[in-house]
Amino acid sequence: MQFSAWEIIKQGLTGNKGWKPHWRDPEPKSAYDVIIIGGGGHGLATAFYLAKEHGITNVAVLEKGYIGGGNVGRNTTIVRANYGLPGNSEFYSHSLKLWEGMEQELNYNTMMSQRHVLNLCHSDGQRDAFTRRANTMLIQGDDAEVLSRRQVRDYAPFLNFDNERFPIRGGLLHRRGGTARHDAVAWGYARGADMRGVDIIQNCEVTGFRIEQGRIKGVETTRGFIGAGKVGMAVAGRTTQVGQMAGLRLPIESHVLQAFVTEGLKPIIPGVVTFGMGHFYLSQSDKGGLVFGGDLDFYNSYAARGNLPAVEHVMQAGMSMVPMIGKARVLRSWGGIMDMTMDGSPIIDRTPVEGLFLNGGWCYGGFKAVPGSGHVFAHLIATGNHHKASTKHLLNRFETGHVIDEETTGAQPNLH
Ligand SMILES: Cc1cc2nc3c(=O)[nH]c(=O)nc-3n(C[C@H](O)[C@H](O)[C@H](O)COP(=O)(O)OP(=O)(O)OC[C@H]3O[C@@H](n4cnc5c(N)ncnc54)[C@H](O)[C@@H]3O)c2cc1C
Repeated sequence: MQFSAWEIIKQGLTGNKGWKPHWRDPEPKSAYDVIIIGGGGHGLATAFYLAKEHGITNVAVLEKGYIGGGNVGRNTTIVRANYGLPGNSEFYSHSLKLWEGMEQELNYNTMMSQRHVLNLCHSDGQRDAFTRRANTMLIQGDDAEVLSRRQVRDYAPFLNFDNERFPIRGGLLHRRGGTARHDAVAWGYARGADMRGVDIIQNCEVTGFRIEQGRIKGVETTRGFIGAGKVGMAVAGRTTQVGQMAGLRLPIESHVLQAFVTEGLKPIIPGVVTFGMGHFYLSQSDKGGLVFGGDLDFYNSYAARGNLPAVEHVMQAGMSMVPMIGKARVLRSWGGIMDMTMDGSPIIDRTPVEGLFLNGGWCYGGFKAVPGSGHVFAHLIATGNHHKASTKHLLNRFETGHVIDEETTGAQPNLH
């Protein structure tokens, strides 16, 4: 079914009885050409591009829970291409371009809203670093503007400009950045993949791999063995656990990240505002809720819930930079499991097991990466070669030293 204004009118006039489920609920076949483990944003986008770009449609996405139940439905929906290092710079640029065409490509309203991302700076040194990053973004072909303190005040007058410790000195504005409706992205890719013949199989947990003479033969699941010549892992916070089933010890740790939303308010926040020095960021959803978050909870965990010290830290940082937030009532908080690598950048690569591919280590940045990641991962699985937008996200960079450490914090995942 094609969504269109005409379809909405037709359904409206006929009692909305003709809408179909967005994807089928098939029984797993005994074997597929490709299996993707994980029905989050990355897994679904990969399946979609395998079918659309490479004509590989004998594909199953195996999801242990339900579509949208992982981090793809738990994030704060920020989309941007403002990275500074080779490897990430071209990759996130590629991803943002795909975001800009996503709704047409999927024929699905993902509520992509390029409402800007503003990073605040609080010292001359930080402004120098932002200027350098802005130049990198411009060279990459993306947009960037370095704002003065006065320009930031015009843009977001509600901020606390004279905080004793972090007075606002300026900002980096990325106008093509913004937000999108997170679970609609998962649903849109699921529907697009299903329409092209991909089987999306929910409630099907992968519990092991069948590997013979170093080659993947298929996966053991809670619904029996399913054969495949190629298997792609896209399980985000569970990457280390699933990797371990294939004998892989990966340079990834899992940590909890929490986020918060307030009651709905009239529009007040123009775009996304980040207060990096205080580990705080904020936007406003289309329903009016202030959506905000901060840092990881700092300890390793596979639990999708956090602790009170991180809550207190985020609230304090919010109050110090956006004092008016104190008047809003928090409705909900939640947590998600983050797959943090040793350098804060993702891995999109082959593994030592022939036919087994790895997509993981998304840290804080996996939502904005969804279309780009699916696109380049599908390319790798289909052709055996890395896409030109992702030649540096290699697993062996932690052996060779070619790390992509945006934060320059070294091998301490909870600081990236
Ligand atoms: C609070 C929070 C805020 C965030 N904010 C942002 C943001 O603003 N911008 C941004 O870019 N990123 C953000 N992120 C990060 C982003 O959400 C993740 O990096 C990204 O969603 C991870 O990729 P995914 O969508 O494929 O993961 P998921 O949706 O978690 O998908 C992985 C799937 O694999 C499944 N799975 C796991 N094990 C198995 C198994 N054995 N068998 C079968 N299936 C399995 C899981 O059930 C899950 O559905 C945020 C994350 C959190 C938690």
